[in-house]
Amino acid sequence: MPTPSQLVSIPDLVDYIDGAFSTPSEDLGVWLENPNTGERAQPQKATRAENLERALAAAARVHATGAWAKLPLEERLGYLMAFSAELDKRQARIAELEAFTTGVSHRLTSLFGLITTGAWALAAEQLKSGWTLSTLPGPNGNTVEIHRRPWGPALLLVPWNAPAPMAAHKAANALAAGCPAILKPSEWAPNGCDLFAEAAHAAGLPAGVFQIVHGGPAVGAQLVADPRLRAISFTGGLAGGRSIAQACAPDFKPAQLELGGNSAVVVLADADLEVAAQGVVSLLTSLNGQWCRALGRLIVHRPLQARLLEAVLEKLRHVRLGDSVAMDTDMGPMVHSGHLRKLRGQMDALLAKGGHALASTPLPNGDLAGGHFLAPTLITDVDPRDAQDEIFGPIGTVHAFDTDAEALALANGTPYGLEAYVFGQDEARALALGREIRAGGVKVNGASILSLNLMAPRPAWGLSGISEEGTLETFRFFCGTRVVGVEGPLSLG
Ligand code: NAD
Repeated sequence: MPTPSQLVSIPDLVDYIDGAFSTPSEDLGVWLENPNTGERAQPQKATRAENLERALAAAARVHATGAWAKLPLEERLGYLMAFSAELDKRQARIAELEAFTTGVSHRLTSLFGLITTGAWALAAEQLKSGWTLSTLPGPNGNTVEIHRRPWGPALLLVPWNAPAPMAAHKAANALAAGCPAILKPSEWAPNGCDLFAEAAHAAGLPAGVFQIVHGGPAVGAQLVADPRLRAISFTGGLAGGRSIAQACAPDFKPAQLELGGNSAVVVLADADLEVAAQGVVSLLTSLNGQWCRALGRLIVHRPLQARLLEAVLEKLRHVRLGDSVAMDTDMGPMVHSGHLRKLRGQMDALLAKGGHALASTPLPNGDLAGGHFLAPTLITDVDPRDAQDEIFGPIGTVHAFDTDAEALALANGTPYGLEAYVFGQDEARALALGREIRAGGVKVNGASILSLNLMAPRPAWGLSGISEEGTLETFRFFCGTRVVGVEGPLSLG
């Protein structure tokens, strides 16, 4: 009996350039794998140079002619909603492909469908809100107009851990703002995003408004450097973020950089151990721990440590590690063998420095014995100075504290600042600590993957990025401002 992921057929990659489909044909010499079995699935491909050029030329043409930005508002809104409807028709297939390629459980990739299709209505709301044209009173009774105009062709770069929802959030906002958009999916999980090409085509978007090209960091870097692209929205790792920031610096090209984290989970002395243990388990296992807001460091009041770890290990024993495509799987494998090797290397380095690994989740066997599975693991006895970097997997370090001041110093003790979590029954005390943590978001007594509010920004501090994203913020990122008005003769009194 094949395991569910072995029954998934992986479609050939498609480029979607200037309204036409083609095949990316540059071989990158690397294989996409079925992460559940380790079997080869598909060779990684990149778009040929001449096709990249055609995509860039088409995006520049669409912008120069106003073929998208100058469409009547109702027409642009209609295309956005048609795109969303076409994605909705393909949602089940996108969820299946993303479960296969990313290793994230099918249950979760199915839930992500809400974002992949819902992002379009949210972006349309921003366009309808009137923010793109407002006025102020000017001199001599004249009006000052404040226009928010699309920067121009935008490049959308997404990582492999939740590609379709991130691509939808970026594409919906870029297009709503009036920017023609080129999406380059992750070379490690391109197949779900490829269905956006079919959806755009079926929605009848004018040629060149939305395009898809393929490749790895080299293709991404080549596009970032092209002067025809005027705004870069990137979600990915620190190395990519830094090189994009450098490439954008000479021309001051706007870049939205959503990077990694090393999130602190602080368990205060009065925490409800059951709630905290459940939070720790969620933060180690959601998206297989391959989540920018996953647990990085568990910072626990010293007298609670032993009981908390015991409760966490008991819960982890019941986590079903299995084939990511099966609907009853709680947690799937790491995305590819290279990533698994990297994580094991990071774990071994901590163990070599005196750390002790704690894990209790049974690894799958049989057909899945060759898969890239990693049991969620906490590592104790690690010096906080050795726990500075992001580990993009289900591995966290454990640090004890005696006073809230020590907890805060530990929580703020890395250069990252994406998300943090505080558990404590005295909410006022937990919130007070939370307000001092240098992170874009701090959740008290909760650990879900949902935002506290759909309209709350998702900011980043330090090495976690710059130019915050969010329902309003990402739309606004794609717009530049122009202030226009008549001054007339100045009366200096
Ligand atoms: P990555 O940086 O390797 O790649 C992300 C995307 O950018 C891919 O499409 C890749 O081909 C491209 N890319 C990489 N380097 C580039 C460069 N120099 N120039 C242009 N394009 C480049 O990231 P990944 O391994 O796919 O994803 C994991 C990382 O993403 C983790 O660090 C994780 O924390 C982060 N992440 C952050 C968020 C967030 O919202 N802050 C969300 C998800 C993932």
